Amino acid sequence: MYANGKFVPENQPVISVFDHGFLYGDGVFEGIRAYKGRVFKLREHVDRLFDSAKAIDLDIGMSKEDMEEAILETLRQNNLKDAYIRPIVSRGNGDLGLDPLKCGKSNVFIVAKTMDSLYDVMELKAITVGIRRNAPDMLSPNIKSLNYLNNIMAKIEANAKGGQEAIFLDSNGYVAEGSGDNIFIIKNGIVYTPPTINNLKGITRATAIELLEKNKIPVRVENIGLFDVYTADEIFVTGTAAEAAAVVWVDGRTIGTGKTGPVTALMLKEFERITTTTGTE
Ligand code: PLP
Repeated sequence: MYANGKFVPENQPVISVFDHGFLYGDGVFEGIRAYKGRVFKLREHVDRLFDSAKAIDLDIGMSKEDMEEAILETLRQNNLKDAYIRPIVSRGNGDLGLDPLKCGKSNVFIVAKTMDSLYDVMELKAITVGIRRNAPDMLSPNIKSLNYLNNIMAKIEANAKGGQEAIFLDSNGYVAEGSGDNIFIIKNGIVYTPPTINNLKGITRATAIELLEKNKIPVRVENIGLFDVYTADEIFVTGTAAEAAAVVWVDGRTIGTGKTGPVTALMLKEFERITTTTGTE
């Protein structure tokens, strides 16, 4: 793994208990995929990492170019071709108080692992959860911070209710996103996805919109209510880890035919093509 400019064995301890990422979730991260030795959407992920850091006033302490090179070198050092790569930047080591001014330099780590699909099945059952994705006075969901407790609570609730994925609503009751993915619903040949005010600006989401438009499938970015979810012809979620996965059941309602629909199937094909033919070496 990469640890503050050096490559060290992954079992070597690299962080202190006084690291504020560990103590308070004070930091940011990314999840990136490599396919056949090429890193998919590297610049977009590095841009989002730096934007997340900027939003919490965290100085990463290196340039975007150096971060890109460190990510690529982590992949090479691990001899990986198909991998999930996780850059992590924490506020650094401080004292037991939460004041970021008492922290030294940020800590930067990058780990890479062979990627296995996170989902047991690609036809998912989802539960809309009670915990909200955001409220006007809370941290923006656009920040990919080290504090994922809301998402973990959502996952716990979904698990407890027999779902493999959670669907968050926002504080207005609009559909926001999954616990680690963005959501698309299809009705009468039109694809709808929520605006990114209440969800993470997913890089796979942006790719999905591009791919849908390229295939002349109309996409509308607008607020989605629960009624629209329950009555959709198809639903799919997108994420770096999930790629595109069908949601075939929500809160006890079968969605469409209960199987992967034609638009989702097309998306899966298109993702396979684009992820294996583009990327940074
Ligand atoms: N929403 C959340 C909360 C996530 O953690 C992720 C994963 O990073 C996504 C959406 C999907 O974003 P991306 O497609 O950039 O991986």
